[in-house]
Amino acid sequence: MLSREKETAAYSLESVVARALTRAQGDLSGELAAYIPELARVPPDAFGVAVASVGGDVAAAGDTEVPFTIQSISKALAYCLALDVVGTPTVLSHVGVEPSGDAFNAIVFDPGTNRPFNPMVNAGAITVTGLLAGALGAEAFDFLLDRFSAAAGRPLSFDADVYRSEAETGHRNRGIAHLLKCSGALAADVDATLDLYFRQCSILVTASDLARIGATLANIGENPGTGAAVFAVEAVRHTLSVMFTCGMYNFAGNWAFDVGVPAKSGVGGGILGVVNRQLGIATYSPRLDAKGNSVRGIAAFQELAEDLGLHVFDPTNRGSALLGAFKG
Ligand code: GLN
Repeated sequence: MLSREKETAAYSLESVVARALTRAQGDLSGELAAYIPELARVPPDAFGVAVASVGGDVAAAGDTEVPFTIQSISKALAYCLALDVVGTPTVLSHVGVEPSGDAFNAIVFDPGTNRPFNPMVNAGAITVTGLLAGALGAEAFDFLLDRFSAAAGRPLSFDADVYRSEAETGHRNRGIAHLLKCSGALAADVDATLDLYFRQCSILVTASDLARIGATLANIGENPGTGAAVFAVEAVRHTLSVMFTCGMYNFAGNWAFDVGVPAKSGVGGGILGVVNRQLGIATYSPRLDAKGNSVRGIAAFQELAEDLGLHVFDPTNRGSALLGAFKG
């Protein structure tokens, strides 16, 4: 069966993005991530959808210039950078690539190896951040901010209030970090690692930024707008693989079934999706479901995937013809 949009000749990415926003707009279910007190103060109704192509074009609808904290989406980018900084074998010796089926903040490690299951849940991400903290020392946060900025194509900043809020209340993550230290998965200092982790989670992005970051990943590591080389090619492949299998936590299987593109969500309300060699996709809507994923973000991605035939196994996937359609 052909997907809706493919049946019509009149086709623009702007109209598809606007329609995804409109169709998902009405669902005001879900809750803000109040376990980080400062996130409970975020205006709950913002909603934006942005798509950026590897050709440098951006289509946006709704609140795509509203800043929000990147939160767990930083895990994918930090992983991509760590693979390059310390090398794939070292990263793999500390963190696995197996979906856990557990919540993002689960206190559970692979019983066979004592490593965290994957880098997209907190335990794995804290371990990866520890590798960066160990390799880069005091320069580590500036390095991450610089690389995230290069991926977005503009200088990003971080939200000191959200950082302080999580640093003061993040006892579960402290517990996870101490257990990782005890098991040997975390080599670096616990406090330095957590400080870097809370900071990286507090980097501010807009949906437009996130879509451009996604386009940089889709463009195998080179920012399509600026031409900057941001991520290593091999690291992008590994990162997209774990985003596909693990990026939506214990919703990853449903996501792969329905939407079928590598993605990563964050409790700040963002979702980043990547269509390999074609598009970066981003949504922002801070009301979350019980698994910590943005309710309207999921709905908008489902609409886009259906309209554009994005699912990696969709037999009617337009492939690179999508870009031609966008430009036309
Ligand atoms: N900073 C948040 C935490 O560690 C990130 C979690 C998330 O976005 N899922 O709890």
